[in-house]
Amino acid sequence: MSNTCDAAVIGGGFYGLYLAEALAARVNRVILFESGAELMLRASYSNQARVHNGYHYPRSILTALRSRVNFPRFVDEFRPAIDSTFEKIYAIGRRDSKVSAEQFCRSMRVIGASVEPVSKSIWKLFDPAYIEAAFLTREYAFNALILRELMAERVHRAGVEIQLKSTVKSVHQVSGDVVELCIESPSGTETVTAAQVFCCGYSQLNSPGMGGGLPLVPLKHELVEMALVEVPEQLRGLGVTVMDGPFFSLMPFPARQLHTLSHVRYTPHAHWYDGNDKQFQPAYGIFDRAEKKTAFPHMIRDAARYLPLVADCTYCDSLWEVKTILPRSEADDSRPILFRPHFGLKNYHLVMGGKIDNIYDISEEIDRVIK
Ligand SMILES: Cc1cc2nc3c(=O)[nH]c(=O)nc-3n(C[C@H](O)[C@H](O)[C@H](O)COP(=O)(O)OP(=O)(O)OC[C@H]3O[C@@H](n4cnc5c(N)ncnc54)[C@H](O)[C@@H]3O)c2cc1C
Repeated sequence: MSNTCDAAVIGGGFYGLYLAEALAARVNRVILFESGAELMLRASYSNQARVHNGYHYPRSILTALRSRVNFPRFVDEFRPAIDSTFEKIYAIGRRDSKVSAEQFCRSMRVIGASVEPVSKSIWKLFDPAYIEAAFLTREYAFNALILRELMAERVHRAGVEIQLKSTVKSVHQVSGDVVELCIESPSGTETVTAAQVFCCGYSQLNSPGMGGGLPLVPLKHELVEMALVEVPEQLRGLGVTVMDGPFFSLMPFPARQLHTLSHVRYTPHAHWYDGNDKQFQPAYGIFDRAEKKTAFPHMIRDAARYLPLVADCTYCDSLWEVKTILPRSEADDSRPILFRPHFGLKNYHLVMGGKIDNIYDISEEIDRVIK
């Protein structure tokens, strides 16, 4: 088989797969390289499974608005993976919250998102000493395993060639505008040349470029833990997020038929930045070496102050992952896309979406690169 293709995609997460399918509709041969033994088992699996509809971003109206626009499209496109069978509650912390209930409602009015006061029976679940108000909203969860099946089927149908257990170690420019990828797999090292290369490595976004001596895109990484819990009967049909500060979320995680419990203070176990070439270390290396001792007892103790029934959750397991954001998102908790066309090399493009539904914002950018 020839080692030349029209487009190469680095990373078999949701972004890489979605992009590979879109590319296959435009050019002849598309190859996708994935380090792992399976597709979509890194951040695209280990996340909170929230299909954002704007509620989470009262301090970043642009992110909230983009979520509102992308929500119906995502729900429609991936319907078999969508879980809409629960009631989603956003509650506002009485102390230490960066938004008041009034500010939250005002932001939601700006983006046209519905908020209703919760019923008396739901309000009674909260401790009013800690919670100022609680709202019934419209937000869903996705089943990451079904999403994975849907995407695997789509790339297969589109004719994308998938190479698993294949890590792109470096990228270089060769003859004119062509990019050469150096790939390591169990069968050895190979090189492939591509007319266009899209790197969708998420927390590893900088790694292939670093291997080729390219500059770094500044990124912030966190080693994160979400506890997987079985919730007590009264919380079964609910998702609860307490906004907007050092609080927590209890979200259905349909892929395991459990809930994830994440806590702004205890979910991150460590953080570091890509931004200094000399100190660069691939995120997965740091992740693999890190000690993973659960912070579940801290999460539950704090969350139960706001929602006492949380104390009756049964701990099952933890999902560990590297969460990556743009450093500028630290201030307003925004989740913009990162798209850097021709980054250090002609036809080498970096792609990262801070959340799953941002894929539509990326797609528009890709159309500009590949006509
Ligand atoms: C804890 C957490 C909670 C989150 N919660 C939500 C949420 O509720 N809702 C939401 O919309 N978003 C959420 N997100 C964000 C969302 O998960 C990401 O935006 C999305 O999964 C990114 O997809 P991706 O394909 O870019 O990354 P990934 O799924 O991580 O895929 C990257 C792939 O690239 C591969 N790879 C990396 N480097 C190489 C290389 N050099 N060669 C070959 N392969 C390589 C990896 O093995 C991996 O499979 C959350 C993220 C985290 C971590």
